[in-house]
Amino acid sequence: MSHPDSPFLVRPGTRAVLADFDPHGKYGLKKKEGKAEVKELNKELNKLQELLYATRKYSLLVVLQGMDTSGKDGVIKHVVEAFNPQGVCVTGFKVPTEEELDHDFLWRVHKATPRKGIVGVFNRSHYEDVLVVRVANLAPEAVWRRRYEAINAFERTLAESGTVVLKFYLHISKERQRERLQDRLDDPTEHWKFKVGDLDARAQWDAYTAAYEDALSFCSTPYAPWYIIPADRKWVRNLFISRILQDTLSSLDMAWPPLEEEAHGIETIP
Ligand code: AMP
Ligand code: MG
Repeated sequence: MSHPDSPFLVRPGTRAVLADFDPHGKYGLKKKEGKAEVKELNKELNKLQELLYATRKYSLLVVLQGMDTSGKDGVIKHVVEAFNPQGVCVTGFKVPTEEELDHDFLWRVHKATPRKGIVGVFNRSHYEDVLVVRVANLAPEAVWRRRYEAINAFERTLAESGTVVLKFYLHISKERQRERLQDRLDDPTEHWKFKVGDLDARAQWDAYTAAYEDALSFCSTPYAPWYIIPADRKWVRNLFISRILQDTLSSLDMAWPPLEEEAHGIETIP
């Protein structure tokens, strides 16, 4: 479900050019007010999630993608904080196992999609199969090329069965990534997050940018839109994500289920 008024929406059928989106901007916002707004939005989100759960008509799938250090884990903390953890299911996608590689690329992903009433969050996703697989040459071009269509068909199937799909590309600048990687190197409590392989990906920044631009352009659809979220500043990132979640959930056709038939006539509890 897409909101044509969002400046961060990749309009279906148009070409996404990442250089046209400022990852560092404050977009006229002030940090203090921004944080206060997030607090209010998160209260509303909590109630909307309860409604989602109670009506069991829809599920919500939030897909997070972005370069290393773009804040995927931070957004998960942010989103889970707003919601009741009982109704949230987070799945991270790592290098596929042998069993996963013995299936089609959507097999492991489809299994992890949220059932009705539940909010699913993907930390990386089926998009890795047209990103790292493409840039690191893990499959021939003929294989990853046809995946864009497979992805659109898959997401359409999800949408048609009541899964609201939102996809966020966390857009950070190359300079901000340098700072965050340096922090991981300098802080002993962050050493575990530092992977030498992340430097290889950083060295291929332009190739990743091109791969992302294709994924964002080919796979932003009315039923599963991509949003490019400015992610250099964590509070700006969180605010825009909360706004889009609130906007999306509040536009769904949901109403509180009525009292069960047998309860009619009961006015006071004996
Ligand atoms: P992290 O998210 O930092 O825990 O790292 C997970 C790693 O798994 C990243 O380097 C991803 O690129 C990699 N990964 C995830 N999905 C795939 C995939 N389908 N094929 C190859 N590598 C993948
Ligand atoms: Mg990592």
